[in-house]
Amino acid sequence: MRPAVFVDRDGTLTIEGEWVRHPGALALVDGAGSAVRALHRAGYLVILYSNQSAVARGLITEEELSAIHDGLQALLAEHGERLDAVYACPHHPTEGLGRYKIVCECRKPKPGLIVQAQREWGLDLARSWCVGDMERDLAAGAAVGVPGILVATGKGAAEAQRMRAEGRPPRFFERNITDAVARILATSAQGR
Ligand SMILES: [Mg+2]
Ligand SMILES: [Zn+2]
Repeated sequence: MRPAVFVDRDGTLTIEGEWVRHPGALALVDGAGSAVRALHRAGYLVILYSNQSAVARGLITEEELSAIHDGLQALLAEHGERLDAVYACPHHPTEGLGRYKIVCECRKPKPGLIVQAQREWGLDLARSWCVGDMERDLAAGAAVGVPGILVATGKGAAEAQRMRAEGRPPRFFERNITDAVARILATSAQGR
C-alpha cells in the first residue's frame, strides 16, 4: 500500500483566480512542478482532490472540467511530472442544476474524494497527507485521520487568520506547496 499526498487545486497547486472555464485559464503556483517531483521521488502518489461546483452551477460541463484537468496535466508535463489521479466533486448542496444539486458525500469538508481514492488505489492513509488553502481541505483529511497542511497561497493566509481568531489555529501552516512538501518529507523521515 502506497501513501498519497492529496493536493487541492485552486490556490494550492494552481494560482487562485476567477471561475476556471477553459484549460488556458490555469497556471501553476511557482514551484509546483518541483514539489510534485519531490513527492514522487519519496514514493508518494500525488492525487488532486477538488471541489468544482462550477459544474453544478452550470458554468462548465463535466467534459469541460476534464479538459481543464488535461490542461493541468500538460502544465505539469512541462516539468516532467503528472498527477497520478484527479478526483473532483461536481456537486453543490444548494446551488445549481438538476442532478448536480445534491448533498453529496464527496464535497469537501466531507472525505468522500479521499475515501474513493483510497478504495481505487489501495492507499495507506496512515502515511498520507493533504495540502490545501482552505480549512475544508484539511477537514476532509481529518475526517479519515489524514493530517493536513494549510498553505498561505490562494485563500490560505486569510483562512489561517480566521482559524486563529476562532480558536482553531492550523496545526501545520506553510508558505506554499514547496514548503508544505518539505514539511511532509521532514516529518515522514522522523516517522510521524
Ligand atoms: Mg483551494
Ligand atoms: Zn460531490
